[in-house]
This record gives sequence, C-alpha cells and structure tokens, in this order.
Amino acid sequence: MSNQRRPLIAGNWKMNGLAKSAGNELLELVKLVRDHKAPNCDILICPPATLVREMAKLAEDNAVDIGGQDCHAAENGAHTGDISAEMLKDAGAGYCIVGHSERRADHGETNAAVKAKAEAALRANMIAVVCVGETLDEREADKTLDVISDQVKNSLPEGATAANTVIAYEPVWAIGTGKTPTPLDVAVVHAHIRSELGSLMNDSDQVRLLYGGSVKGSNAEELMAVENVDGALVGGASLKAADFWPIVATS
Ligand code: PGA
Repeated sequence: MSNQRRPLIAGNWKMNGLAKSAGNELLELVKLVRDHKAPNCDILICPPATLVREMAKLAEDNAVDIGGQDCHAAENGAHTGDISAEMLKDAGAGYCIVGHSERRADHGETNAAVKAKAEAALRANMIAVVCVGETLDEREADKTLDVISDQVKNSLPEGATAANTVIAYEPVWAIGTGKTPTPLDVAVVHAHIRSELGSLMNDSDQVRLLYGGSVKGSNAEELMAVENVDGALVGGASLKAADFWPIVATS
C-alpha cells in the first residue's frame, strides 16, 4: 500500500443484522480497535439502514466509522421505501456505498443512477464509496478493462476528490463465492482505475482504491500488499468482529 494513502478497511453487512447481536459485534470491534491503539487505517462498517443510528452511537468515539449501503439520489420527496443521503448522514453515517453490484443487478442501477447517488452522498457531506466490477462473462470475453473504464468514467460523481470519493473494485464473480482474482489480476485492474482517474480528477494519485470480493483473514495480507490497493470492502467476513479484525490488522 502507498504510504501517502491511509488505508480504509470497510465492512458491508448487506441485509444482515438485528440490533442486539449487531450491537455486540460492533462493541467487540470497537474494543479490539481500542485495545490495539489506533490501527494504521480507517475502519468503516456499513450496516443495514435500520441500524445506522444505533451503530453510530455505539461507535461514538469514532474508533469505527459508520456508513450506509445505498441512498436515493433525491433529497426528499415521494419515494416510498427509499432513504436519502441526508437521512443517513443525520443518523450518523459518514460514508455511503453506491453502485454495489448487487444493487446494479437487483435494482437495475445504471452508471448514471450510481453517479447521481454518489453526488447525493457528497451533497450530504458523506464520502461516497463507488463500486465497480466485471461479471464472469465480461472477464471471460476479455472485456474487464473496458467495463471498468465505462463504470469509472460514468459513475464517478461530479466534484469527486480523493477526500470525498473512494473506489471499490469488486469483481462480481468474486463476491460471496470464495474465489478471488490473482494478485496480478488485481494489480492490473487497480493500475487501470488509477490511470483512468488521472484524466478525471486532479488528485487521482491520492484516491483510495479498495479491493472487494471474498476477502478474509487468510488472503487479506496478500491482497492488501498489491500495488494500488488501499484497503478492502468486505462482505461475509465483516459480520463477526473476530473475522473482520484480522483483515483490519493487516494494515
Ligand atoms: P464478500 O462481499 O466479501 O462476501 O465476497 C464483498 C462485497 O460484496 O462487498
């Protein structure tokens, strides 16, 4: 990892977690962070929206940042069931994931929709974690870098800076499957993202690029050592503090 970019280890709890057990896991994580003094990275947990306020309270000393998993692009209005970026911020979120492949697939979110959501997150003074990644078909058809270019160019919010935007590379075929790309594959894509950002942002060399997809304690060190990998976005292995901590501890 680069010395200039402070790593970010982020947990995406997806649609998992009820107040009591989630609270216990978060408190355990906060305790681990405190016991080991300040780790050399930022730590983020993105619980389901129902738990954002509660988890933010439990992590009040900011040992762990709390984020949303998605937001609506609009500030408010007639959007039944949706949650605005401002509402997440009001509940204590400092970050918001946008464009996760599960949302792109389950809700048909286009790059334009993801960009609008990322812009809403920035307007609410949150850091946007913009997800990109190719499907297995796209990888096998040798289209990975084209797909990534398209997603990065068209999902990046207007006004993106290294301070307000993080990019997470998550190959769709690696999410929740136990499969990971080789370190070389990750290096190629991350270098490509960094180079694409060069023409889109002034401080592209400072933007944090996370890798996500089946990151766990046993492979984190190898993946985090890849050039241009500035942290991880972790699903399954973020649900339990005991599984997540070894990933945090690689930083
Ligand atoms: P996984 O999920 O770690 O369970 O593969 C990663 C993600 O979807 O963010």
